[in-house]
Amino acid sequence: MASCATSLRGGDERYEMIATTNLDRGTIENIVRQIVLRQAGGMAPTVAAPELVVSISARHAHLTDAHVETLFGPGHTLTPMKDLYQDGFYAAEETVMVVGPRKRMLPNVRVLGPTRSHSQVELAFTDSISLGLDAPVRHSGKIDGTPGCVLVGPRGVVELEQGVIRAARHVHMNFRDCEYYGVSNGDFMKLRIESQDCTTVYEDLLVRADDTSKLEVHIDTDEGNAAFLDNASKVAQLTHEPCSCKH
Ligand SMILES: [Zn+2]
Repeated sequence: MASCATSLRGGDERYEMIATTNLDRGTIENIVRQIVLRQAGGMAPTVAAPELVVSISARHAHLTDAHVETLFGPGHTLTPMKDLYQDGFYAAEETVMVVGPRKRMLPNVRVLGPTRSHSQVELAFTDSISLGLDAPVRHSGKIDGTPGCVLVGPRGVVELEQGVIRAARHVHMNFRDCEYYGVSNGDFMKLRIESQDCTTVYEDLLVRADDTSKLEVHIDTDEGNAAFLDNASKVAQLTHEPCSCKH
């Protein structure tokens, strides 16, 4: 999120893809839903595909108010630098150094705001290897039993006992998008990114739905680079995983 490298916007091109790729269940369901709506003469003659944004969430830290003060000085609050795609969230001007075991460290890890009830560091797998940490894949906030690290700011140091994770891939959406895709909060979806020599399908994409979120996939830098997202030639395509019982 902090230094999102790339965003892919889907939309009309989705229909172009239907003609050239195999139809999967999610696509067929969408087409059927549109035909049914049209025949019913309902209020919406066509269902517009929601705009799909795929963002790389680069390594970052979430901090508590208390940790912000320890790291940046008494009374300090985060200074928003850049709004993120999701309303109300921002990359802060503040950065911290993340130190792992044997003094390996990552300098200048961006802090994201607003502050939270628990501090948490989200890394890509490559980051955690270079820090010497065995960070598990977790959904945000699920940090029990995860490794800790030391955070160093300009005015102080915080030792986190836990909270270093590789953020699990997920898609934010609002309930209207859920209806479009035929999914519910907590379901898993599949994301296909078509890219020169690097076309990639990611499964296990968790749906995180609420009233207000904009449709946006969050993958980490390793995942974005594996799919060569910067150079992706076609829009990404999101479909409901046929079986959600495997989780
Ligand atoms: Zn997210």
